[in-house]
Amino acid sequence: MLNGVVTKSTGSWYRVQTPDGKTVDCRIRGKFRTKGITTTNPIAVGDRVDIELERNQDTGVITKLYNRKNYIIRKSVNLSKQAQIIAANLDQAFLVVTLASPRTSLGFIDRFLVTAEAYDIPAKLVFNKLDLFSDEGLEILADYKSIYENIGYPCFEVSALEGTNIPKLKEEMKDRISLFSGHSGVGKSSLMNAILPELALRTNEISDWSDKGMHTTTFAEMFELPSGGFIIDTPGIRELGVIDIEQQELGHFFPEMRERMNDCRFNNCRHINEPGCAVMAALEDGEIEPSRYESYLSIYNGNDTRS
Ligand code: GDP
Ligand code: ZN
Repeated sequence: MLNGVVTKSTGSWYRVQTPDGKTVDCRIRGKFRTKGITTTNPIAVGDRVDIELERNQDTGVITKLYNRKNYIIRKSVNLSKQAQIIAANLDQAFLVVTLASPRTSLGFIDRFLVTAEAYDIPAKLVFNKLDLFSDEGLEILADYKSIYENIGYPCFEVSALEGTNIPKLKEEMKDRISLFSGHSGVGKSSLMNAILPELALRTNEISDWSDKGMHTTTFAEMFELPSGGFIIDTPGIRELGVIDIEQQELGHFFPEMRERMNDCRFNNCRHINEPGCAVMAALEDGEIEPSRYESYLSIYNGNDTRS
């Protein structure tokens, strides 16, 4: 028996990498369930598993799935009760942000951060296309960075094009499983290629897998970094996925509200118009950023701020 991490999944075949770097293509034996949801795929990239080699020693069988520290899902469009697990055991999710072409709104950033909090995945912001910033752009960048760094979200400013601060980002990714999200056009592919040039060169393995009679819809794949750690590539998935958040728990996913809400007079305070609300007091004192509070209200009221 061996253990390892799933680095590629098709829904019926899984590539498992063992601690010594060997990879084994595996099938599943038995049922693996995810508590609380019905999933279309029982195992995803990032999953830690036990495997047994089959007699030919070339392929294997997954016999055990270890508990996940977190996972991200995609809801099935037709069967709303079913979800696809995209990836598990993420150490961090980077949101790639640009101030122009395309512009990422604060509302979009906040919605991403809320989702990451709800998933229990540490989120970090990567401001890309630094080479395009005017003086005015640099001032806006400084404002944005202070908003997010003040509430505990690390920020990076990079240029995938010129390579600026890419080593810093690589250092942050060392020995961790990382995911990149963001609007189309912000430079996710360019950044991932700058971090791991092999990604740009990778050839499609479909023929290899179909030779073994494997069903080949790739859900997601993880690529190992030379310094250790993995980068998750999720073809066709631009965002972190959707998660249902109850109105009354939303405040917990804003760190600056979470740390104050115990001081609200009412323990079921919605932080909207209640007397003795510690969150609104902090907002009035300028300790909570108005744009963040606006995002709270917008998400609370079910408005879509995904633009
Ligand atoms: P994705 O849709 O997020 O994967 O974005 P891409 O990586 O395809 O990049 C979208 C466009 O932005 C391409 O034309 C890239 O060449 C360009 N781009 C990416 N990173 C940078 C950067 O740091 N600076 C500039 N000026 N352009 C960039
Ligand atoms: Zn309150």
